[in-house]
Amino acid sequence: SAKQESEAFSSEIQFLVIWLLIYHLGLVVREYTSLSHLDKQYFGFPGEILMRMLKLVILPLIISSMITGVAALDSEVSGKIGLRAVIYYFSTTIIAVVLGIILVMAIKPGVSQAADHIDRTGTTPNVNTVDTLLDLVRNMFPENLVQACFQQVSLLRRSRPFNRLLVLCRQNITKEYKLVGSYSDGINVLGLIVFCVAFGLVIGKMGEKGRILLEFFDALNEATMKLVQIIMCYMPVGILFLIAAKIVEVEDWEIFRKMGLYMVTVLSGLAIHSVVCLPLIYFIIVRKNPFTFTLGMAQALVTALMISSSSATLPITFRCAEENNRIDKRITRFVLPVGATINMDGTALYEAVAAIFIAQLNDYPLDVGQIVTISITATVASIGAAGVPNAGLVTMVIVLTAVGLPANDVTLIVAVDWLLDRFRTMINVLGDAYGAGIVQKLSKRELERMDLVSDVDVANPF
Ligand code: ASP
Repeated sequence: SAKQESEAFSSEIQFLVIWLLIYHLGLVVREYTSLSHLDKQYFGFPGEILMRMLKLVILPLIISSMITGVAALDSEVSGKIGLRAVIYYFSTTIIAVVLGIILVMAIKPGVSQAADHIDRTGTTPNVNTVDTLLDLVRNMFPENLVQACFQQVSLLRRSRPFNRLLVLCRQNITKEYKLVGSYSDGINVLGLIVFCVAFGLVIGKMGEKGRILLEFFDALNEATMKLVQIIMCYMPVGILFLIAAKIVEVEDWEIFRKMGLYMVTVLSGLAIHSVVCLPLIYFIIVRKNPFTFTLGMAQALVTALMISSSSATLPITFRCAEENNRIDKRITRFVLPVGATINMDGTALYEAVAAIFIAQLNDYPLDVGQIVTISITATVASIGAAGVPNAGLVTMVIVLTAVGLPANDVTLIVAVDWLLDRFRTMINVLGDAYGAGIVQKLSKRELERMDLVSDVDVANPF
């Protein structure tokens, strides 16, 4: 409605003002003070608190929304919805990868300079692709549920090279890890999702006996969303300090000039995907204005941009999708947590561009077979990447080794990753949201039929 649109617009303006404030606060502090490393950390403290709060609600949110989401549908309907979501995720990811490949081959950002002109920041051992896939599947079946709530999120958790790469990333990419914590204090989201889907299906079939559990998880979901509402009041302050602290912290601005063309390639790919590809698919299927939809997601997109984590943005994604874009809770609860974990269009596009960029830097010719390998592995790597900062950079190693490029060269792109990560996370979140809108449209008939069969409001069973 017009009211909704004007509200979304005024929140856009608010964010713009916040952005300007952030930028100037960062610049002023940078110019006029000489902060020690410790001072900089203190400066980022309010931002750190925001991240901690957002991460805190991920666990109850994912568990309660997945279980109630699946239990509210009958197994046949949830199967269909799941299948539609997966087909959407897969096809949009492939589109993103192909777009990335076309752009990087056309712009050729790596051709004008040689790899030797950019500093490598460390050494990275090789990682095996089969191991990666096995670990992805392994993570889907956690052996201990409690452990899954605080276990390392990423794939390859068993391989030592990966851990060494993580340490390397933490030291070199970004000190942001101090703000957002490390991988090891993450959650095995994929494992929890698999468990919750199975659990929700079983509860849904238990009838009267399962109702008490369903009521419990539904109440948990509502309470968590109320907490999210409170956190959102603090968000502008937290975000302000998070970004200002980053501006104060970055030392090497020169690298942005050196890597300019590469960044332009990634950013223009992300822009085209989010402004042309996704809206077009949405329009063709849903027949509604996609840009009103994007505007409705504005707050989630800005959050993703600021904190570079799809998982930590999830609470806000839920609110925007349900309240601004009016997507049925039965769909969001089921589709969004899965999307935040496995559907990463931005990451896939970035991985394909980065791999070919590194090949160009090394003067390494790629044949058609290798390009196809890059597109497949970039898709797998994006599915395997956790929704946490810089996860895509780490799974990048899979793509490089698959085509015989030195895995060590991932360190060539480390210095600018903190910035690109923000933008690709934003597109990851946007892709998930569009997915929910599209799946809702495609599942309209089933949802209506369920509404008719049940005399209670199924979206709000209680
Ligand atoms: N930070 C991204 C996300 O959370 C993952 C990535 O590094 O590409 O979606």
